[in-house]
Amino acid sequence: MAGGVLTIKDSGYAPAMPTHTACSENGCKGQVPAALEPVHLCMLHFTLKVENDCAQMRRETVYGKTPHARQVEIIRFIADHGEMLARASTSGLHLADEMKARILNTFLTLMNLRENLDRAALRQPIGRSS
Ligand SMILES: [Zn+2]
Repeated sequence: MAGGVLTIKDSGYAPAMPTHTACSENGCKGQVPAALEPVHLCMLHFTLKVENDCAQMRRETVYGKTPHARQVEIIRFIADHGEMLARASTSGLHLADEMKARILNTFLTLMNLRENLDRAALRQPIGRSS
């Protein structure tokens, strides 16, 4: 049967349809994809924010003295933001090549931070007594 793939209309609207939320970055008129609705950011400002947060966490974790609870928080941040980024970027938005490259770079940053965290944890084993 032809057109079997087009089941999107059953859900009421296409997932790529931008929300009516404005990007929370001052003066930005970028559209907020549905997947980024919880953070109220357009694709560009979301990647900038994630890059920024990751750089800060990387500095925080580089010595391997990050408390376990904080490490869990960071791991959750990486997973959540990686998922949001994946959903937003594969939801059918028309993205410029430059933006696609930026998205890939942000994934790389998230992966590297996760890897860095494991390496830091190995240097300073997490206490299991608590
Ligand atoms: Zn924006």
